[in-house]
Amino acid sequence: MVLKKNRSGKSHSVSLSLIPIALLVLCVMGSFAFVANYAAMRQVKIELDREKLQLGQSFTYSADSLLLAMTRDEALGDLFQNPNQLGELDRALQGLARRQSLDYAVLVSRADGRVLAETGDPDVLAARGKAAQGLIEAARLRGLEGSTIGIGREARVVQDGLGIVTLATLPVGRNLILIGTRPITSATLRRLSTMLAIPNLRVVMGRTNIETSYAVPSIDGQTSMSVIWEPTRDAADILGELALFGLIGTFMVGVVGVLLFRRIRRTTEEILHREARASHEARHDALSGLPNRTVFIDALNETIEELPHRDHALAVLLLDLDKFKDVNDTYGHAAGDRVLIEFGARVRPLLRQTDILARLGGDEFAVLLPTARTHLDATRLAQAIVDAANRPFIIDGIEMRIGVTVGIAIGPNDGTDSATLLRAADTALYRAKNEGRNRFNLYEHRMNEQERMRKLVDDELRGAIENDELTLVYQPQVHADTGRIASVEALVRWRHPVHGMISPVMFISAAEERGLIVPLGEWVLRRAMQDAARWPKLRVGVNVSAVQFRQKDFVELVGRVLKECKAEPGQLELELTEGVLVEDADQAQAAMMDLRSLGVKLALDDFGTGYSSLIYLRRFAFDKIKIDKSFLDQMEATGESAILVHSVVHLGRALGLEVTAEGVETEEQRRFLQAVGCHLLQGYLFSKPVPAEKLDELMTLDGDLSQRSRTQSAA
Ligand code: C2E
Ligand code: CA
Ligand code: CA
Repeated sequence: MVLKKNRSGKSHSVSLSLIPIALLVLCVMGSFAFVANYAAMRQVKIELDREKLQLGQSFTYSADSLLLAMTRDEALGDLFQNPNQLGELDRALQGLARRQSLDYAVLVSRADGRVLAETGDPDVLAARGKAAQGLIEAARLRGLEGSTIGIGREARVVQDGLGIVTLATLPVGRNLILIGTRPITSATLRRLSTMLAIPNLRVVMGRTNIETSYAVPSIDGQTSMSVIWEPTRDAADILGELALFGLIGTFMVGVVGVLLFRRIRRTTEEILHREARASHEARHDALSGLPNRTVFIDALNETIEELPHRDHALAVLLLDLDKFKDVNDTYGHAAGDRVLIEFGARVRPLLRQTDILARLGGDEFAVLLPTARTHLDATRLAQAIVDAANRPFIIDGIEMRIGVTVGIAIGPNDGTDSATLLRAADTALYRAKNEGRNRFNLYEHRMNEQERMRKLVDDELRGAIENDELTLVYQPQVHADTGRIASVEALVRWRHPVHGMISPVMFISAAEERGLIVPLGEWVLRRAMQDAARWPKLRVGVNVSAVQFRQKDFVELVGRVLKECKAEPGQLELELTEGVLVEDADQAQAAMMDLRSLGVKLALDDFGTGYSSLIYLRRFAFDKIKIDKSFLDQMEATGESAILVHSVVHLGRALGLEVTAEGVETEEQRRFLQAVGCHLLQGYLFSKPVPAEKLDELMTLDGDLSQRSRTQSAA
């Protein structure tokens, strides 16, 4: 589930980082195209302007240079002084025409427009057509009017039928006008083209709409012809060139982008991977690679949350390896580790995909079955796990044997929160261990009760003692022959404000564990002795726990309480169990002697349940033995116990002890016990333990209690 989240998060971030890169490339391409287009247009315009300028200049220049050359012609210059030497003029004009590549030249008198000299083929001039002749005519006329025409920049170009002519009109001195024509040939144009680096210069007549054209002004101010050329640089050319750069640029941006993107993605992946690994490490056991306790409890909580919406149960199995410590101690931790790994590997295939196997730590594992139809699912699995663990583990050729103990809790039956379920499974595990390990155990509710009681005792017993929540009930011991009350046994009860009357079975051992038995015992002793004053003729039995008896000042306490309550020591009968005597027999013996010397009586409780009871009878100075109820229970089942009870009673009597039988419930038991010589009988047949006031009543009856209880139950 976690991994899924990561994976989707990753693809999300990948697509996110791809979009800006694509956008970036698009932007780059777009702005490049725009700039390129703009630059190309600009460039073309600049180029065009240059070409036009240069062409204009060249045409003007060629006229200028022609004029200049003609004016400076020395031979001609001399003649200007004397225009009357016509023969000389002819020769000078021929020389000029030759030097200046004029195909026709004429000198006109300014005064009267007379042609003074002429060179070149007149046919040529004629062939130039009307335009040329018109020009000459105009020059003559203007010359006649005495004005200057066509100097310098006013060079004009016209075309006739055959070719292109440069015409220049030039006032020479004050009296002459020189007109020369120089053809614009295809060679001229080629030369110009090369010189100006303007390709393919051509001339067309008249005006044109072509952009790459230069309108050459004619003598009459009209456009007579245009020079056109191929644009040196076409916008498309430039764009084409730029497009290559653009493509390369875009390609590079793309490549850089992709590299960047891959790098980012790799980094992102690395981070995600590292994150995933960190979270995996935080959630998994390093040794086995299995989920750890955190994961397990999370999964358990999730499953519990879903329970109300499902129609199945869940099961928690706690697994504790047996003899694992032996493996560790004998073969070392490395071998132990491998056994743990191998164990996990054996269990995993027994589970379904959705089940969770976790290592909680050490040699403890846990399994969660999120869907268990019945507890059988869990017990079947538990048995399979036990079987798997029982197969030998071969580590480095060495055969090792372990086992596993399993505790099972079923939710929601055994709990509706993870803590309760785990505790229940742990309780079941604990019991399974006590029952001999290498097995599984299903949690039972009464286990939980013990648990609860332990907690209750922990939390509340001390307060209960102080707040007088404890109370005593008394159970009579009657004479076997008469059924009359001879003595009573004080039995403690806990009157809990919430849980009602709590039996000592539930809290005595817990009180012993928690060290609360000492104040509790003291309270019982004091209360019993206070009550004892009401029944001066009765002996009152008080149970003493081994822990309490072993207290150094126990004897002193008994003496003090007797004195405080002004009680007769002989009225007190302390009921001790074998446990009291086992541990430190000498000290126990000494204490018992002290108690006896106080005048207190001693009874051996639960006789027959312990070790070698007869030994105690001889060594310790008891006044009484109480034959345990279990004897009577068994007596019913097997004839053997009857003989045993018989001989115990016999022995007791022989040692001069008083013999009491506990737990007498039936008339048959009573008759048998009476027959074998039991002195006193205690049990529900005569009376259940009763409060002191009730005992007062029983005392006043002063008859056979068994008869009374019979009439009572009949009533
Ligand atoms: P115990 O000393 O053997 O007490 C006899 C128990 O057997 C009592 O249980 C009594 O109610 C029960 N009993 C008596 N007659 C019959 C019968 O005919 N049938 C059955 N089934 N049971 C019968 P209770 O009062 O629950 O006491 C249980 C145990 O708790 C006692 O066993 C004793 O070991 C301990 N205990 C009770 N009060 C005290 C106390 O004040 N101090 C200490 N240290 N232990 C106490
Ligand atoms: Ca007892
Ligand atoms: Ca007993």
